[in-house]
Amino acid sequence: MAESAFNRRVINSVYYPKISEVAKKCIKENIRFKFVTEDELPKEKTVTKAKLEKTDLNKNYTFETFVVGNSNRMAVITALKVAENPGVLFNPLYIFGNVGLGKTHLMQAIGNYISEKNYNYKILYVQANDYMSDFIRALRDDNMPNFEEKYKNIDILLIDDIQMLIGKNSTQQQFFNLFNELDNSRKQIVITSDRPAKELNIMERLTSRFEKGGIVDIKAPDLEQRICIIKKKAQELFDLSLSEDVINYIANNLTTNVRELEGAINRLIIYSNFCANDYISLEMVKEAIDVVNKTKKKEDDYSALLEIIADMYNIGVKDIIGNSRKAEHVLPRHIVMYILKEKYNLPFKKIGYILNGRDHSTIISGYEKIQYEIKNDKEMKMAIDLIYKKLGE
Ligand code: ADP
Ligand code: MG
Repeated sequence: MAESAFNRRVINSVYYPKISEVAKKCIKENIRFKFVTEDELPKEKTVTKAKLEKTDLNKNYTFETFVVGNSNRMAVITALKVAENPGVLFNPLYIFGNVGLGKTHLMQAIGNYISEKNYNYKILYVQANDYMSDFIRALRDDNMPNFEEKYKNIDILLIDDIQMLIGKNSTQQQFFNLFNELDNSRKQIVITSDRPAKELNIMERLTSRFEKGGIVDIKAPDLEQRICIIKKKAQELFDLSLSEDVINYIANNLTTNVRELEGAINRLIIYSNFCANDYISLEMVKEAIDVVNKTKKKEDDYSALLEIIADMYNIGVKDIIGNSRKAEHVLPRHIVMYILKEKYNLPFKKIGYILNGRDHSTIISGYEKIQYEIKNDKEMKMAIDLIYKKLGE
């Protein structure tokens, strides 16, 4: 804790790299930290299941972890301006581009940036289809006041994948009202979409409002940017340096989508864990990429499962595999154990290998825990069903 706001600023900006370096040497792990003054200390919160809701921002999605290149430079610059001055310059900010190119990441980077600077800002991240389900549920349960409270009582709205509202007229109408209210009180709205606003086949009143803010797009990364991303991800996710030929091979073979690049790196790590071997050979890379490119071999493709679950709980695959005891990491990890047993029928020992060499008794107890919860908790049952659905069952 820093004694004054001034000290805090100096430490965070000037001494951060040094402290970080020393910390890394001591505990052999990359950690992120921040000095704060006493009144900035977050209030202790107990972690409940509610905390695992998708509305939470993923703390890894920041500007620092976002690789900038020709494909996204304008988008990043504009996003930074919005984060610096929410509600002032570009309202709404509309970010569009194909899947897996970083829209959600960039949108959440704005949210994370704002929340770091303004602890008391209420920032709501929501996927458009969750917004829709909330709305429908509120109608059904005759509970509009709660719904309104959740959405109107905020400072920043981040609404992801707005194209989900195509064809949902009453939700569009509801969103239009919300949009106007927030816009009138100069609350920042950020929207992502898989297509330009013009091609968004939703009510004209909405799209014309989108067009009056800032519009940016993200394209597929070029070779140079892909190389940067691979290096950074390998380092960041697993503290791993890959050889030049490995990096080039990945960069030349996965060209359209950053999520795929990440998927390939995750697979490499899983393979290398499997072989109890830290060395990543070109052979392993070829195999890992084959899986990505053909998305075949579903049978023993556990990384897809890890990615789906990480995504659902807004954490990283490394959090699932890693040793963190945080409730928001432990529950998804147990779910992975359960599904690897239940769906893939893997031996507990093998599941242990996949999950960072955990002991088979740990796996059994995680498995049993979820088995029990499914029977006793409807939400857990729904979560598992959803995962099966995402796995293409
Ligand atoms: P989208 O929402 O456009 O489908 P995401 O934001 O979910 O894409 O990005 C997919 C994955 O790729 C995320 O894990 C994200 O962190 C990563 N990613 C995308 N673009 C970049 C980038 N420029 N730098 C670093 N990581 C990126
Ligand atoms: Mg997205």
